[in-house]
Amino acid sequence: MPKWYNSQVVDIVNLTPHTKSFWLRIEDPDMFDYKPGQFITLDLPIHEKRHKRWRSYSIANLPRENGVIELCIVSLEHGQATHYLFHELKIGDTIKFKGPDGGFILTDDMLDKELVMICTGTGVAPFRSMLLDLKSRNAFKKKVHLIFGTRRQEDILYQEDFSRLAIQEPHFTYTVTLSREVNWPGDKGYVHPIYLSQYHKITEDRLFLICGWSKMIDETVENLILKLGYDKSQVRYELYG
Ligand SMILES: Cc1cc2nc3c(=O)[nH]c(=O)nc-3n(C[C@H](O)[C@H](O)[C@H](O)COP(=O)(O)OP(=O)(O)OC[C@H]3O[C@@H](n4cnc5c(N)ncnc54)[C@H](O)[C@@H]3O)c2cc1C
Repeated sequence: MPKWYNSQVVDIVNLTPHTKSFWLRIEDPDMFDYKPGQFITLDLPIHEKRHKRWRSYSIANLPRENGVIELCIVSLEHGQATHYLFHELKIGDTIKFKGPDGGFILTDDMLDKELVMICTGTGVAPFRSMLLDLKSRNAFKKKVHLIFGTRRQEDILYQEDFSRLAIQEPHFTYTVTLSREVNWPGDKGYVHPIYLSQYHKITEDRLFLICGWSKMIDETVENLILKLGYDKSQVRYELYG
């Protein structure tokens, strides 16, 4: 039987025009722990049938951060859960959730490899938790490259955190690529040309971690395994839907 927890919404913050962070204070924080990269499943009042009320969200912050969990959620035009979260949920409301779940985490042996993290939009959430954790434990051993893709400059998530980390941490590189921005001095287009050009020479000591929606993940997995020839074991992903 999964264990359910009660939480209270303590803050809702606009991150970009279509993305908010939701901060949930866990009722009994000592009973709940998670590994960076894991997700929780919310039970939202959006349907009579239980399983149609459940939506999963990656945790975007560090474990044990004052018993508060941060979720980073994008609003979908016809999304049931996101309509509720963006238009009905208020600070002070309670939310029931289960978890943590998921094996999309960094194990100690993975820290001996070069890590290439590829994401679009809110797919950055598990990587933010992982990267904050690596920083807090001083555990950057090998190169870590975060490749973040989104449409416009205004849609970039957690840019300050990652830019600061790139200055502080010599092993960490941060690339943002924008698919619909004309006046942008950085990379333009989708995430694919970035890793295809930088990681076409195969090495066994490299792991790719990918997070986001199916189209981007399918294309990235196909490019890495079929086009570049990486082994399946070097490519891991978390699929949002
Ligand atoms: C393990 C896991 C972790 C997740 N973590 C996050 C997270 O941290 N942040 C977050 O915003 N979402 C996350 N999701 C997605 C989330 O669970 C919901 O699916 C999402 O919020 C849409 O729910 P909804 O009820 O509003 O939309 P629904 O009414 O369920 O309709 C969603 C439909 O749109 C598609 N879709 C959803 N989002 C997109 C998108 N951005 N681009 C293209 N198609 C899309 C879905 O595949 C589905 O067909 C995660 C999903 C999983 C499985």
